[in-house]
Amino acid sequence: ARYREGQGWYDARLTQYGPLSMDPGTAALHYAQSIFEGLKAYAQPDGSVATFRPEANAARFVRSADRLAMPPVPEEAFLAAVDALVDADRDWVPTLPDQTLYLRPYQLATESFLGVRPAHEYLFLVIASPAGPYFPRGVHPVSVFVSEDYVRAAPGGTGDVKCAGNYAASLRPQQQASELGCDQVVYLDAVERRYIEELGGMNLFFVQGSGEDAELVTPELSGTLLPGITRDSLITVARELGHRVTERKVSLEEWRSGALDGSITETFACGTAAVITPVGEIKARTGDFTVGGGGPGALTMRLRETLLDIQHGRVADTHGWLHRVS
Ligand code: PMP
Repeated sequence: ARYREGQGWYDARLTQYGPLSMDPGTAALHYAQSIFEGLKAYAQPDGSVATFRPEANAARFVRSADRLAMPPVPEEAFLAAVDALVDADRDWVPTLPDQTLYLRPYQLATESFLGVRPAHEYLFLVIASPAGPYFPRGVHPVSVFVSEDYVRAAPGGTGDVKCAGNYAASLRPQQQASELGCDQVVYLDAVERRYIEELGGMNLFFVQGSGEDAELVTPELSGTLLPGITRDSLITVARELGHRVTERKVSLEEWRSGALDGSITETFACGTAAVITPVGEIKARTGDFTVGGGGPGALTMRLRETLLDIQHGRVADTHGWLHRVS
C-alpha cells in the first residue's frame, strides 16, 4: 500500500514479486527512514497455515513507525496484508520438517527530496520467502564475540525499535566477530559498557542451576534492546513449566564468573529466525570462556521443543498465539 500526506493509505494490492522503481532522491535511500518486521507462517497438522503472534509484530511495527516519524500502518491493515500474502502463497508446502514461510513487512519513505525531514510519502510492503530449518544437521551451540569497540544502541536512540539503520551499524561488528571465528556479536550497554544487552538479532537468556529448580535470567527491557516476541513467549512458557524468570541487569562479569564457577549452567539466544539457539563459546577481550561445557543445555532444549510444538500446532495453543490464515 502507498501513503500520501493528506490522503492517508491507498492502493493496497497483491502484486507479482518484482523490482521496484524509485527516484534517485528517495528519502529512505539517503536517511534510512525505513522500518521492518520479521515473522513466520507454520504449516499446521490439519493442512492449514498459521502465523505466530502477528498482532505483536503489528504493534511493534507501529512503535517503530512512531520513533522514525512515520505514519503508522493500522494494525488491522498490517494483519490483513500478511494474511493476504500467506493466502496467495498457499501452494507453499514445506518439503522438510520445520520448514516455514518467513514474512518480511517493511515501510519506507518514498518521497524524493534532499532536506532532512520526515517524508510525506511512504510505501508499505510484505514479501515472503521459504525458510529453514535453521539447524538442518541438529541443534548446535553458536560462538559469540563480546563487542567492546561498538555498541548497538544508546539511551534515547533507536535500539528498542526495528529500523534499518540499526542493522547497517551492526555489519562492521558482525564482520569483526566472523574474522575471530565467532557466529554472533554480543552487545554491551553504551553507558557503562558493562551489562549484557543482546545479540545482533536475538535476545539472550541465562540459566542458573539445573533440573526442576533451574531459574532463568534475561536482560531487562532497558529501552536499548529490542523487545523480542520470542523472548516474551519464552518468559511465559518457562514460567508455565515451573521455572522462575527474572528480568534484570546482567553484567559480563556475572556471566563469566557464573560460567566459570558453574552457577550459570546454560545460555541461549532467541528470535524468530532460529527460535532458540544455545550459546557455547564466548570470546571477549577480557578473557574467553565457555558455558555449560559448550553443548546445548537441557532447559534450552526443553524450551526449544515446547515453543516449536506450539508454533507447529503439535500441542494445544492455550495462549491463542496461532493466527490461522483462511
Ligand atoms: N533483537 C534484535 C536486534 C532483533 O533484530 C531481533 C529479531 N527481530 C530480536 C532481538 C528477536 O526478536 P523476535 O523474537 O521478535 O524475532
